[in-house]
Parts: sequence; C-alpha cells; structure tokens
Amino acid sequence: MYDIVIIGAGVSGCSIARELSRYRAEICVVEKCEDVCCGTSKANSAIVHAGFDAAAGSLMAKLNVRGNEMMEPLSRELDFLFRRNGSLVTALRGEDRPSLTELYRNGLANGVKGMRILDREELRAMEPNVAPEAVAALYAPTGGIVCPFGLTIALAENACTNGVEFRFNTEVKNLRPVKGGWELSTSKGPLAAKYIVNAAGVYADIFNNLVSGVKIHITPRRGDYCLLDKSTGGFVRHTVFQLPGKYGKGVLVSPTVHGNTIIGPTAFDISDREGNNTTAEGLQELIGKAGRMVKNLPIRQVITSFAGLRAHEDRHEFIIGEAPDAPGFINCAGIESPGLTSSPAIGEMVANLLRGKLELQPNPDFNGVRKGVLDPGRLSREEYEQLIREKPEYGNLICRCEMITEGEILDAIHRPLGARSLDGVKRRTRAGMGRCQAGFCTPRTMEILARELGIPQPEITKCGGASNLIVGANKDVL
Ligand SMILES: Cc1cc2nc3c(=O)[nH]c(=O)nc-3n(C[C@H](O)[C@H](O)[C@H](O)COP(=O)(O)OP(=O)(O)OC[C@H]3O[C@@H](n4cnc5c(N)ncnc54)[C@H](O)[C@@H]3O)c2cc1C
Repeated sequence: MYDIVIIGAGVSGCSIARELSRYRAEICVVEKCEDVCCGTSKANSAIVHAGFDAAAGSLMAKLNVRGNEMMEPLSRELDFLFRRNGSLVTALRGEDRPSLTELYRNGLANGVKGMRILDREELRAMEPNVAPEAVAALYAPTGGIVCPFGLTIALAENACTNGVEFRFNTEVKNLRPVKGGWELSTSKGPLAAKYIVNAAGVYADIFNNLVSGVKIHITPRRGDYCLLDKSTGGFVRHTVFQLPGKYGKGVLVSPTVHGNTIIGPTAFDISDREGNNTTAEGLQELIGKAGRMVKNLPIRQVITSFAGLRAHEDRHEFIIGEAPDAPGFINCAGIESPGLTSSPAIGEMVANLLRGKLELQPNPDFNGVRKGVLDPGRLSREEYEQLIREKPEYGNLICRCEMITEGEILDAIHRPLGARSLDGVKRRTRAGMGRCQAGFCTPRTMEILARELGIPQPEITKCGGASNLIVGANKDVL
C-alpha cells in the first residue's frame, strides 16, 4: 500500500509530488495520459499573476501571492524559464478608472507589492503599442511569465529523482474506502493508498463526488489563444490585460518567455471535459478584443492557435483540503487561474497537510536541484564549439525554426521521465514549436525516437494513445 497516491500529473499534482519528496514516504502519481503536463497545465496564458484580482481573503489570493514569491527561487533551483516582466491592466475609457482603483485596493489587501496607477503618458512610454484610447493602467511589477511545460516537467523530474513513482497511461476509474485507506481501480489494475490526493483538473469534481456528500461542481471553461511568431518579439514587453470581468481576467497580450507574443484567452462554458478545440467564433472574438487593447496587432504572424479548459468551480475558489466526510481523501480541486502561479504554494500547502497527518520524517537524500535540457543557445561560441567536438550530436540541427539539435532531443528522451512521443520531445526541447509547426522536424524526430526507444516508427505517436502518425506503407494503403 502506498502512503500517498496523487491522481493527475498536471502542475498541481507534480508540485505536490515534488514537495512531498522532501519526506520519507511511498508516493505514486497516477496519470491517464502518456506524459506529465497533458491537461490544462499545457494550454494557458503562462502568466505568473501578481495577485491583485483574486478576492481579498480568499485561498486563491493567498496562494497566488505566495506562489508568485516562490516562483523566482524555484526557477533557479529547477532550471526552468521565468521572467518578471510586470503586468499592466489598461483602462480604455475614463469611466473605467474607478475599477482600476478598486483593483489596486484589492491588490493591496492581498499583499501585492509595488503596484502603481499610471497615467496615459507614463503608460505610453512603457508600452508604446498600447491602444491610443487607453487613459490609465494598473502596473504590477511582480507580474511575470513562465514556461508552463518547463515548470511542470521540472517539478515532475525532481520528484522522480527524489523517489516518487509515476504511472502513465493509467486512468483511475473508481475509488472505495478500505481498511487503513483507499482502493483505486485503474485501467491497469487496482492500487491501494493510505491517502489520495485528487489533482485531476477538470475531472476533480467526479472523484470528490464519488466519495463525499459535500458535492462540488466543475464547469470546463474554454479559453482560445493565438500564438504569434517570434518576429513579433518585443511588440509588448509587459503583459497587457483588459479590466477583469464576470468570466475572469479577460483577454491579454503578452510576450512569452521564448520570445513569441500570445493573445487570449476567451471564456466559453462548455460541457465536454475534453473539448479543447478552438472555434472560428472564439478566435474572431479574441482577435477583436486584443485589437482594441493594442494598436497594429501583427495578427498575420499567427503560427498556431490552441485552447485550454479552466476547471471552474461554482464558488470560484480553490478547494484544497481533506473532504470533511471522507478521511484520507485530499482535494486539490477548482484549480483554475491563477493555478499555474499558485502551484508552488499549492504543493507546499498539501505537503504540509500530509506531513502532519502521516507524521512524515525528512528524506535525508532529498536533492532539490535539477538541471534542465542543455540549451546550446545559452553557451558562448567557444563553449558551443567545444560541446560539438565532444558530442557531435549537438552539431546536428533537427528543428530549423527553434534551432534544436539532436543532442537536445537525446537529452529529452534519456532523462528521468523522458519523452516518449513527438509532443513529449516538443514540450521538453521546443522542437516543433516554431514557425513551421513541426513540418520540417517531425520525420527526423520520429527517426530519433524510434531508434532510441527501440521501437518501429509506426509505433511513434504524437501524444500517446492512438495518435500514431504512420498507419501503413503507401502501397499497402493504396
Ligand atoms: C485558458 C486558461 C488560461 C490560464 N491562464 C493562466 C495563467 O496565465 N496563469 C495561471 O497562474 N494560471 C492560468 N490558468 C490556470 C492553470 O493553467 C491551471 O490552474 C493549472 O494548469 C491546473 O493544473 P492542474 O494540475 O490542477 O490540472 P491539469 O493540468 O488539468 O492536470 C490534471 C491531470 O489529471 C489527469 N487526470 C484526469 N482524470 C484522471 C483520471 N481519471 N486518472 C488519471 N489521471 C487523470 C489529467 O490527464 C491531467 O493531466 C489558465 C487556465 C486556462 C484554461
């Protein structure tokens, strides 16, 4: 019997796993997909929110501000990309000023540091492409941007090297209390645990409602995005928001840590928990909204669009803690935005709770430092030439758009919880993330995956399951 089974390898589950790996315990993360970061954690705005908009006094506000503080030291410890670029909430009309002031006061109540309200001139000087109509903005210097894949994968890898087990392609189907804990029925057979952590994203209400009479209700709330080519890098330097509305923080225009520009998200309540397709109406809506916040939006530079699903709980609050009528069942539910920002603090909170309950002792072998995939782009020319002499695979360019070499792909495959699919490689190295969207590198990455994993190319998938790219030889198909 495990001490703890965590359902879901999104950023919440992986952060909890990493924090728990500080202690001596038998821990397992169970994930229905083939890799970490396959749910909401892979499709969001990637903003590290300052924390001015969550309701003062809420758990969401507390964990947002704490998570924001933790992100920078964590990025150094775990070697993922994070930048404190600051955020601006713009008021486009004079009558919006009171709402900005209200947001500012809410931020103060939440403990957000360094905020200021900027007038038109100061705003224009900081962000020349902001809409000419903008009359003022709330500036929050603690706002930041992060690589969501980098963060989630780093947490998971570090948890794994510190002893946490991960089971992929394993769907939890049912739960039932047994003596001393819980039995989980999964697609790969039963598992037993003293404690369960429910970090199942948009599915978390289903697990809670299986075991507890205190019901929760999650609505998948879809957000559509457009990602712009790196040639737009510097179009905005800060994350530019509109004023938050009934459905959340609204549309933003932001740089990404990799130098692209992102615009989005929309907000549509839907019923399909897998419904992360974009729609023409959604994309039109977001382009219109973004175009009102900034001038000369370089919309012809869109290289891809995507959508993510917020796990919106009816009370719009994080639900973290033991279900009152199901001892041993710990919820981490309703983790919508700012869940990515809050993830380090969510991990800390849940690990503290379980440390107390299980009387966990420190893991003497815990090592919190992790090195990411080596990026030759960060080396000097001399260092890079030396690297190629020692490891010629770093001289073999596989992805021309993002300049990713075979060496980086080999690193991504052979590290702890290494890549097993094209998307696994993409999320760890960025091969396929660029302008041609994997048109050039797909066959070459498939060859490397097949060779390194010792499997035939037809078994290589885009993202696990039945997403194989090769379905047969041309002549057989004809
Ligand atoms: C449009 C949008 C924009 C956002 N923008 C931001 C932002 O800028 N900043 C920010 O801080 N936050 C943002 N968020 C919120 C943030 O992305 C989420 O809060 C966070 O990613 C949630 O992580 P999670 O681990 O709780 O859920 P997920 O990442 O969804 O992980 C849950 C995991 O559970 C697995 N699972 C589900 N059911 C089962 C089962 N039966 N068995 C096994 N595994 C199962 C899933 O496959 C999944 O991998 C945004 C969200 C959206 C949708």
